[in-house]
Amino acid sequence: MNLSLRARLFFAQAIAVIVALAAVTLLAAQEQRAWLVERNAEALERIARIAVRDLPGEWSRTSGDATECARSIGGALGLRVTLIAEDGRVLGDSDVPREALDAVENHRDRAEVAAALAGRTGHAVRRSHTLGVEFLYVARPAGVREVAVLRVAEPLVEIAALRASLLRLSLVAAAFALLLTLALAFWIAGRHAARVRELERVAARVGRGESAARAPERPADELGRLGRALNEMAAEMRSRLEALARERDERERILAHLRDGVALIDEAGRVLHVNHGLVTLLGLALPAAPGTPFAEFARLPELDDLLHRARDEGRTLESDLRAWTPQARLLHATVTPLGDGGRDPLLLVVHDLTEIEAVNRMREDFVANVSHELRTPLTSLRGYAETLLEGGLDDAEHREGFVRVMRDQAVRLEALLEDVLALAELEQPGARLRVERIDLRALIERQVAGMKPRAERAGLTLAIEPGAPLLALADRARLEQVIANLLDNALKYTERGGVTVAAGAAGPLAWCEVRDSGPGIPPEDQPRIFERFYRVDKARSREKGGTGLGLSIVKHIVQLHGGSVSVASVPGEGSTFRFEIPRGAETMAVTPG
Ligand code: ADP
Repeated sequence: MNLSLRARLFFAQAIAVIVALAAVTLLAAQEQRAWLVERNAEALERIARIAVRDLPGEWSRTSGDATECARSIGGALGLRVTLIAEDGRVLGDSDVPREALDAVENHRDRAEVAAALAGRTGHAVRRSHTLGVEFLYVARPAGVREVAVLRVAEPLVEIAALRASLLRLSLVAAAFALLLTLALAFWIAGRHAARVRELERVAARVGRGESAARAPERPADELGRLGRALNEMAAEMRSRLEALARERDERERILAHLRDGVALIDEAGRVLHVNHGLVTLLGLALPAAPGTPFAEFARLPELDDLLHRARDEGRTLESDLRAWTPQARLLHATVTPLGDGGRDPLLLVVHDLTEIEAVNRMREDFVANVSHELRTPLTSLRGYAETLLEGGLDDAEHREGFVRVMRDQAVRLEALLEDVLALAELEQPGARLRVERIDLRALIERQVAGMKPRAERAGLTLAIEPGAPLLALADRARLEQVIANLLDNALKYTERGGVTVAAGAAGPLAWCEVRDSGPGIPPEDQPRIFERFYRVDKARSREKGGTGLGLSIVKHIVQLHGGSVSVASVPGEGSTFRFEIPRGAETMAVTPG
């Protein structure tokens, strides 16, 4: 039967109360009756004692007629009186006619009579065989003539009536108590059931993850303690969930900021999770929603093939792939089955090798370029040395010229070596500047003054536009190199006219321009002249002793200062090289670009 908690509690209490009240009422009724009988027996005993005392008088007055005598005493007392002989025979009875006496049973065995015959007062409660009514009997030894025992008896009708009324009273009281108790039980059961229901509600809310759910802890009985345990459990659960969420968020953050691509793919090839890195590496716009088939998301057959093979073979596989995302990329993919069976998810990690490949290619190009640059002066040196050895030393007319060429080639080699070393130093990942407060204008003026004789020898003008001191935080030696390289190029390539240098401040920046009236640079070459070994006119640059690295060094130094360099040139009219650096540049551990 599916009774509610309230009904169960109520019925259990109601049954207990009813049984207890019934038992109490029954016991009380019995107790009442015993008490009444005892009180009556005491009264009857006193009456019997008086009747025995008055018996001889009555006996003589009624001339030994036992029935008459019994009636007389009985009449006076308002009770039934029986006179009994030594052998138990009834001699006379106030309520039995004389003629019926013979039919009356011998009373020897009646308990009260037997006690009186033995000399004691006896009493008993019994239904009278003679009269058919319940009587309280009290018998006393008499010893008057043949009357051995006098017995008085009172019908229990009144006692019964009294008992009935007492019982009614008890029942009414019991019913009243029952009603009151049941009402109380009903209320208590209701309250308990309501508290249990409240706990049930709170448990359900805790289960749904509602953080505000709190169970009542008062009153501090078993249910209150249960409420407290529930609250403690909920708090513990909340803190564990928070810790889990924190861990998950951290993991998500790490994955989100990872430049490598990471994906978790289920046994059916559907995406469980992809990070932003993978989306970027594959050149896609949006991450895949969980459940999307990975092949549809990535659209890279080689990657699909790798995933299938890793699943089939149940081991980690790696491969390099080319992805034709907007730009071509070289990717390194590693697929690891997570677990031993074929039904476990696969972890895909994709690493971008594009930059590494580009760096490697640059290094290879650089080595090839340097070797190429070395080869020409070395071949020339060797050629002249061999010519000298093979008789050239005796050729008084030309030998000096040979040695001069050899010296020029050695100077060129030295310049190349210096530029390569300078560039290598600037390109080191931790390349730093020795920053100090300098006057840029004074620095430029010194460089210009140093180059003046060379300009004059070449028939060129070299001037600096006047201006105020230009303070900046910069690396003095490196900036000297920037200006020297720019001036060297301007003087090197300009054949007529001259070179002008200007410098100034523009807001937080300091700028410097080197303008020449040289051949200028074709527009298509302008973006490339800052690359290493890039020359517009190779033969001319070599002839002038150029290494092809000067502008590359300029660009690196300016960028290390947090600045930029640019060129503006009209072929046939001249070129203007301009660089700008922040004046307060306290920088600058900038990785060279
Ligand atoms: P180089 O040692 O050959 O001068 P740079 O890196 O300094 O190497 O310059 C790269 C190329 O840019 C030069 O070979 C030259 O063709 C061109 N160039 C540089 N400065 C000038 C200039 N002032 N006028 C014309 N061409 C220039």
